[in-house]
Amino acid sequence: AAFDRALTQAIDQIRPDVRAAHAYVVQSSHGLLKMDAMENPYRLPPELQRALGERLATVALNRYPAERTAELARALARHAGAADDVGVTLGNGSDELIGLLSIAVARPGACVLAPVPGFVMYEAFARQQRLDFIGVPLRADDFQLDEAAMLAAIREHQPALIYLAYPNNPTATLWDAAVIERIAQAAPGLVVMDEAYQPFVDQVSGQSSLALMARQPNVLVMRTMSKFGLAGVRIGYLLGAAALVEQVEKLRPPYNISVLNAEAALFALAHADVYAAQAAELRQQRDRLFQALQALPGVSPWPSQGNMILARVQDAAATFAALKARGVLIKNVSALHPLLANCLRFTVGTPDENTRLLAELQDCLS
Ligand code: PMP
Repeated sequence: AAFDRALTQAIDQIRPDVRAAHAYVVQSSHGLLKMDAMENPYRLPPELQRALGERLATVALNRYPAERTAELARALARHAGAADDVGVTLGNGSDELIGLLSIAVARPGACVLAPVPGFVMYEAFARQQRLDFIGVPLRADDFQLDEAAMLAAIREHQPALIYLAYPNNPTATLWDAAVIERIAQAAPGLVVMDEAYQPFVDQVSGQSSLALMARQPNVLVMRTMSKFGLAGVRIGYLLGAAALVEQVEKLRPPYNISVLNAEAALFALAHADVYAAQAAELRQQRDRLFQALQALPGVSPWPSQGNMILARVQDAAATFAALKARGVLIKNVSALHPLLANCLRFTVGTPDENTRLLAELQDCLS
């Protein structure tokens, strides 16, 4: 009883808003075909796995991370095509960078703005810093930016930080370049172009935000190695004007990137062609999956520039459960936002995985 009283007293020291919050739940995928989290379904070929293993075996685990982290940061900036004078900082996944950005702008009365539905961590990290979050609804039919609503919300709320995921999650949509430019010009604060899904953007459809960043000093570009094929390695990076990135760098825990992660990421960059070929295959599979979903009665997919497809079905909860019972795990995003009623998100898999998904889906719908 004394132990329980002391425990209650300890928990009482935690902020009330934290006590009232819920931890991020990762749905269990044990024994299921995992098509829920925008992971690259491919691994490295066996000979490269062995070479990576040998490389990792030589890493000095007894030392704190140092030079190799700095090397990785520069290598990632080069990989992205950034100019030499662009600043770069690394996060333990882009999730950590979103957290650091929230800390960087957190002061009483400040707010964060993003289109919704969007990536849930923008709001979650804003709330952790007691920042208000302003979600501006996308257009209901095509999930495109509502420019007038965005500009009006920027004027009214003067957000310290705006996120534009390009492409967006979970809608997999890109935004019009001229609209982005007008938002960046109207923004009184930072604008983060979150290019997590950049490997899956067709050349003809999208353009990197690096050029915009060069014209607009308040624009930062955030990328990650997660969708590239290293979701387990946790490497995100933030590019921008050196003087601006330096401010975020002050908030980064000094050893946030493990020596093993840095080494694995450098190895992956040295074999970027392997990952580029995987991404090309996944883009093709995405287009195949889109067409096949479109042909299924009662399924309405939206065009995608990511490695996932959002689709509306007649009963998302029932379809999700039926697929899971058949061993396929997707994401039911219906509850995330009213605009997503009865929407499911399918992550693009290997050709065999997509074939299986389509067969199971057809079965549960008939
Ligand atoms: N941004 C967007 C738009 C995402 O969808 C995700 C992951 N789902 C992230 C950032 C975070 O990725 P990570 O932390 O793995 O780099």
